[in-house]
Formats: sequence, structure tokens, C-alpha cells
Amino acid sequence: MILGMTTQNPNTACMCGSYSYEVPVHEDVSGDKVWQLKVTGCTATTQRRFAAGHDAKLKSLIIQAGAGGHQVRRIERDTVVAKDAVRVAADLGWEDLVRDAIARGSS
Ligand SMILES: [Zn+2]
Repeated sequence: MILGMTTQNPNTACMCGSYSYEVPVHEDVSGDKVWQLKVTGCTATTQRRFAAGHDAKLKSLIIQAGAGGHQVRRIERDTVVAKDAVRVAADLGWEDLVRDAIARGSS
């Protein structure tokens, strides 16, 4: 932490916390559907897009979603946008990196 900075900009929520994906667990005979929610669990605030190291956290989340064939959701206020993982990565400038990682099956 750096004290004594003179910037007036308030911190805003780290972007990684607005992304998630869901993994289907099961659907029972009554039609109830159960998913496991995957998130970064981030509550950090920052002057930048991401808190330190959280771009890596988000890359990992997106790669895991893509490797599992799951869409990634971005939640911003009351709007939810779901896209293929590689398209989410492209929005963030990580398309090649994420596509390669998904192709390798790594996370
Ligand atoms: Zn974060």
C-alpha cells in the first residue's frame, strides 16, 4: 500500500468480481436444476481495472469456463451478459492467450 498519494479518484470495484460461470450439477425428476456457481470471490477495490494480480485470477476463471464449454457471465448493475469464454477474453485483450490455454486444456 502506498500512502500519501494525491489522486482524487475514488476506488472502484475490481473488474474480476463481475465475472462468473455456472457448471450444471444435476436436474432432478421434478425439473429442479442445480448449478455450481464459479466466481473469483473478489471484493477488492482499486484505482485500475483490476486489483494487483486479479487479471491473472480472471484469466484463470475464463480459461476454466472455456475448457469446460461453459459461457461466462458478466454482471454489471442489473445487466447480465453471457458470452463464450474466448469472446469474453477478446473483450479484455486476452483472446490468443485464452484460446491457446483452452486448446491445451490447462487452467
Ligand atoms: Zn478482483
